Amino acid sequence: MADIITLLPDSIANQIAAGEVIQRPASAVKELLENAVDAGATSIKLIIADAGKSLITVIDNGKGMSETDARMAFERHATSKIKKIDDLFTIKTMGFRGEALASIAAVAQVTLKTKRQDDEVGTLIEVENSQVIKQEPCACNVGTTITMKNLFFNVPARRNFLKSNAAELKHIIDEFIRVAMSFPEIFFSLTSNEQQVFHLETGSIKQRVLQILGNHYNAKLVAVNEQTDYMNIFGFVGKPEAAKKTRGDQYFFINNRFIKSAYLNHAVNSAFDNMLAKDSFPSYVLFIDLDPSQIDINVHPTKQEIKFEDEKIVYAFVQAAVKHALAQFSIAPSLDFTLNAEIQSLDAVAKPFTTAKKEATTTSPIFKTFTGKHQAHKIEPNEKSELSHWKDFFTKKETTTEQVIEQKTITQDPSLLHSLPKFANTYIQIHNTYIIAANNNGFMLVHQQHAHERVLYEKYTAQSHSKQPATQKSLFPITLSLATADAILLEDLLPEIIAIGYQIEPFGNNTFIIQGIPADITAGNEKHSIELLLEQFKHFSSEIKYSKREKIVRCLSRQHAIKAGTYLTQKEMQVLIESLFMCSTPNITPTGHPTYIEYKENYLASLFGKV
Ligand code: ADP
Ligand code: MG
Repeated sequence: MADIITLLPDSIANQIAAGEVIQRPASAVKELLENAVDAGATSIKLIIADAGKSLITVIDNGKGMSETDARMAFERHATSKIKKIDDLFTIKTMGFRGEALASIAAVAQVTLKTKRQDDEVGTLIEVENSQVIKQEPCACNVGTTITMKNLFFNVPARRNFLKSNAAELKHIIDEFIRVAMSFPEIFFSLTSNEQQVFHLETGSIKQRVLQILGNHYNAKLVAVNEQTDYMNIFGFVGKPEAAKKTRGDQYFFINNRFIKSAYLNHAVNSAFDNMLAKDSFPSYVLFIDLDPSQIDINVHPTKQEIKFEDEKIVYAFVQAAVKHALAQFSIAPSLDFTLNAEIQSLDAVAKPFTTAKKEATTTSPIFKTFTGKHQAHKIEPNEKSELSHWKDFFTKKETTTEQVIEQKTITQDPSLLHSLPKFANTYIQIHNTYIIAANNNGFMLVHQQHAHERVLYEKYTAQSHSKQPATQKSLFPITLSLATADAILLEDLLPEIIAIGYQIEPFGNNTFIIQGIPADITAGNEKHSIELLLEQFKHFSSEIKYSKREKIVRCLSRQHAIKAGTYLTQKEMQVLIESLFMCSTPNITPTGHPTYIEYKENYLASLFGKV
């Protein structure tokens, strides 16, 4: 028998490895922006076409590369940022793995132009399938321009896996914001399909935050600023009245690196204590700086999760700093609270960071996880908290039940009425959630929220196909100011939202005017409803099988369905059940949950041994 093991060719090995670093256009954007920051650029321009699928260009005015370095940069594990394992403890750069350019060169067609200050000519290199196909001197400005075309052109399976342009653009904007937010001293711009989306002049951190989140935040931000020997925190939290119905504007940066941490998010929330309504989320942009040896940023190839040497301290610190900031602005009662006492009494703060401690660190379990991928753990699973957040949306109580149900009922077509099952006239509601409707054959147990979701789903679907959706004009036009990313999403969804009966017009500067809402939606909640819709849509955007319109219809019917736990009158129950049985698929919700369960008379009798 022949031996069967062979070494993979470099190009395939690179493609496989690239899968970890470059999952979508946004991952390439993140790596290229970070490289430009690491190169000391003061101006970074990002240009994309087709949501990055066909083109991503990053132009920086950083330090550039020599001819040899330019070629080396595309090799796997080629980095100028660390030389030995100990360097990991003093990492000040965004990159250090030396994998990004090699990965990008494995899955896209890349052109690099680069020149250093003192070089007479620059270098141009073209790479495809990890092979250098052209290298020549070129005239160019100081700095580096990298263009990557046709991402995943040679990995069709991955290319097919990409989401819609709207979804991929959203990811790119998220990454762009995360880098641009922490470097206000660098000019950033983002141009998408030849339209400038961001133009961020250099300025203070507050100016940068406002440029990104929107000027309406001015006056709503409270500065957070605490310095200790162990760590610093600075940035902003939104005043309680600026809290949002969606979890939009929440940013943590550790040593200028954006991270996701449900754990630290909890620390901020708890600092707000009882100042926030139950269903709202504080906005914050917080930068935490601490000794690089106190964190493990190596836990994930895309470096968004982080492991702290002592996360309890970081938690207490964040919580205390936010409390202190709120108290100073007399937003929270300050009581006898003092930051220093609380923080300084913490063990690790009191002790200086000595050589001995450093040595201890290198033998700690954290250090050991440094070298192995996939061994790391998140601070807290993010999915879980997002799920419960999602659920929160649907357990919020509607106020004007009667109005809502009546307004939302399908216009009754009398010719359909004969096909309805005949029910006795009294309905019984139990647990404010289930309705018992009896007829001659037995009874039905109807889940009111599921039933109403089905009714609304069919109604909105019908409406979205009609040429003239029923709209009610708002008495006063309502202005909606959104963050750039949300504004782009809304703009993208606008035709579908209008088809359902909303009247919304873009007003420039990420602002929209709501002139009217679908005839059957209770007026008064327009702003919240749209914000919620956008947030729900983001959760939904991974479901490729549904069209945009279908997703919107599904979101809206969920959003406006009468909730479990809501008391219903006889009239409301009657209208609901009659509408349900006029639906084309009355028995399940759009997501496939039963809307009612039928109990036949002879089944009931059998329970009592009568059949
Ligand atoms: P890493 O950033 O982890 O070092 P990369 O693959 O992203 O790895 O980059 C490899 C090397 O190429 C970097 O260490 C740096 O020396 C060089 N490099 C990459 N991008 C730039 C840039 N825009 N300007 C100057 N040098 C760069
Ligand atoms: Mg890099």
